[in-house]
Amino acid sequence: MKRPLIVAANWKMNGGLALIEQMTNAFNGFVVNDNVEIVICPSFPYLAAFTAAAKTANLNEHIHLGAQNVSAQENGAFTGEVSTGMLKDVSVSYVIVGHSERRSLYSETSVVIAEKVKSVLEAGLTPILCIGESEAQRVAEQTNEILASQLQAVIDIIGIEKFVDVVIAYEPVWAIGTGKTASPNVAQKTHQFIRQFLTNIDSDVANKVPLLYGGSLNATTSEELFAQTDIDGGLIGGASLKVDEFKVICSTAKGI
Ligand code: PEP
Repeated sequence: MKRPLIVAANWKMNGGLALIEQMTNAFNGFVVNDNVEIVICPSFPYLAAFTAAAKTANLNEHIHLGAQNVSAQENGAFTGEVSTGMLKDVSVSYVIVGHSERRSLYSETSVVIAEKVKSVLEAGLTPILCIGESEAQRVAEQTNEILASQLQAVIDIIGIEKFVDVVIAYEPVWAIGTGKTASPNVAQKTHQFIRQFLTNIDSDVANKVPLLYGGSLNATTSEELFAQTDIDGGLIGGASLKVDEFKVICSTAKGI
């Protein structure tokens, strides 16, 4: 089975109604290659607006809506939180979980992140699970150990079988928002490690999990990164806010 190639836009706390309008207009009639899925993740207040704009623009069925975060709780007294049920109400189908900014700025532990992945799966949505090492950890040659522990925390809670419905985004923290894209060689080697780590537990599952690269990916670097054996697309921050550049990135996702 060929894995899908996924190009996901993480707008972070940027963008708004104007960007939604520009993006949906630009993607009106945009044809993606077979087996390519595009996911746009605006901030919570704009999810419903994106769904409405997407209907008007008659977007391709391969263009999906994603959220940047979610609560692990179903409902109740959790002020400021958003549940999977709420996301489903506004036609969200993907959810970014465990982004490094959530881990570092909002103290989300690997266990909290694993609980979120579990809730997202139970709701029938697709989690985009982010993992990645810091610059200091890479320099200290701890990358593999860090990635393994971030993955193991989720495996311990959901079980390896459930990973057939998970998308993993490898995002080296030193590459996020810094302009220092990992070279195709470094990214491929790290993705290969992630695939091998999963293969050692269950090779069927490992072959099915899409592994996205994230970290300063742009229209100049996307084609070569997407061509690597174990890279199945990208999670894109800064460059996804520029409509023309994001379209070029999506065009370089060939799929098969
Ligand atoms: C991200 O935050 O997920 C990301 C990859 O950001 P950027 O592309 O800006 O490095």
